[in-house]
Amino acid sequence: MNTNRIRTLKPEPGKALSGRGPVVYWMSRDQRAEDNWALLFAQDEAVRAKVPLVVAFCVVPSFLGATAAQYAFMLGGLREVEERLLDKNIHFDLVTGDPGDRIPELVKAYGARCLVTDFDPLRVKRAWKKAVSAAVNTAFFEVDAHNVVPCWIASDKQEYAARTLRPKLTKLTPEYLEEFPRLKRHPFELKGGGPPVDWQGAERWVAKHTPAPPPSSPRARPADGAPAGREADAGQDARPTPGTSRARRVLARFLAHGLALYDRRRNDPNAHGTSSLSPYLHFGQISAQRVALEVGRSRVNRRAREAFLEELVVRRELSDNFCFYNPHYESVRGFPDWAVKTLSSRLKDRREYVYSLGELERAQTHDPLWNAAQAQMLTTGRMHGYMRMYWAKKILEWTESPEEAMRAAGYLNDTYELDGRDPNGYAGIAWAIGGVHDRPWPGRRVFGTIRYMSYDGCKAKFDVEAYIRRYAVERD
Ligand SMILES: Cc1cc2nc3c(=O)[nH]c(=O)nc-3n(C[C@H](O)[C@H](O)[C@H](O)COP(=O)(O)OP(=O)(O)OC[C@H]3O[C@@H](n4cnc5c(N)ncnc54)[C@H](O)[C@@H]3O)c2cc1C
Repeated sequence: MNTNRIRTLKPEPGKALSGRGPVVYWMSRDQRAEDNWALLFAQDEAVRAKVPLVVAFCVVPSFLGATAAQYAFMLGGLREVEERLLDKNIHFDLVTGDPGDRIPELVKAYGARCLVTDFDPLRVKRAWKKAVSAAVNTAFFEVDAHNVVPCWIASDKQEYAARTLRPKLTKLTPEYLEEFPRLKRHPFELKGGGPPVDWQGAERWVAKHTPAPPPSSPRARPADGAPAGREADAGQDARPTPGTSRARRVLARFLAHGLALYDRRRNDPNAHGTSSLSPYLHFGQISAQRVALEVGRSRVNRRAREAFLEELVVRRELSDNFCFYNPHYESVRGFPDWAVKTLSSRLKDRREYVYSLGELERAQTHDPLWNAAQAQMLTTGRMHGYMRMYWAKKILEWTESPEEAMRAAGYLNDTYELDGRDPNGYAGIAWAIGGVHDRPWPGRRVFGTIRYMSYDGCKAKFDVEAYIRRYAVERD
């Protein structure tokens, strides 16, 4: 393992003060037992010290607007993590509450030798780590187990665009894109560890503490030709089943049937031409590095592979870079100067349509294509990538200000997308509304020089009517 993946958040306090208990891995973003650099590092440390290994996950009562649907997906994946760890003689703990309190309590209760966690650029996670670091009396390490090239190594500043990050990643990738060692059966057993996780209790706790999805969702008509009621894990029409094994199956299916045509079909929302891996990648149920390794080994044509890796590696890691170095990643303050200027100069432009958040949420606009995209998200927990761009740009067009557009897009994305609350979402919305990672385009009303997208432009690209029929909203 390349040790540049590891950062010390708190050095060892000295041998006399270090605990003699297990190494604890506080699992957060990378919720999997395989292909997880943070877990592998924690195991190496535990083996070196000849002590047991404990993995702990802390479920928080509210997380950036996540609702019961996202919590259910996460808990489903964590159940599988527990099973797999048990097989490897590694104890799994699920605790609930504020990680700033619960993780230090756990570290103290175990007399942990050291604490390891995974990397996340989001502000809330960084605040938790700061609190944990201040409260524990043990060495504390962070490992970037999410990016192929660790975020702080890929670049030491916010990148302007994919074109400025891409050459850095290309240079560094050979150093980091290595095969994962297997997680070993851990040779040191935890004596007197707690009982297995009470999953039903955890589900009850989540149901009690987290918001249910807002009741305003319209009913989507059963999709024409869509595999309604049947699970279509490689498609976009069913809510996906969680877990690493399922993620692996989705990947296998994509490698066999989707990847070869990715560069030609990915922008057609009717074609089911993308991988559908984002919820699994978001919750860390599959490693992006594993996906990149398998794609690299695939025999499909180079153009398709490169087009896919551009999204999976360059765009995804660019999003982490944005959130890591720009503290205002979800607001207008995070936009580049040229975008702030051009949007301000258009504030007084007359908006042809203005919708409230409730109308947007209920898919009640004059535009059937936008309504269909919103309905796809409400009913399936995901929206096709091409439609996400159109969807966010129309929110800018139909609200009174870019600030309001950012609030509405952020709220809807984080509440309803299974893969929401992710750097990709913050960067995607900031791209669509605020020109982040983009450049000025010919000017127009409301948008100024922010890139525009239109209904007619979509019509020229794909069968808009078919998409509308597929997700049409039924109204009482
Ligand atoms: C307004 C807007 C909001 C978005 N919100 C989210 C979000 O909340 N969560 C999220 O994961 N992605 C988001 N994206 C990025 C992208 O649309 C999704 O990652 C993609 O549609 C997921 O489908 P897929 O897994 O089939 O992607 P594929 O096309 O198969 O791509 C494979 C993987 O590459 C990454 N990827 C693909 N496109 C992008 C991109 N444009 N930027 C960064 N990474 C990318 C994702 O991890 C994706 O799973 C958003 C984009 C926009 C424009």
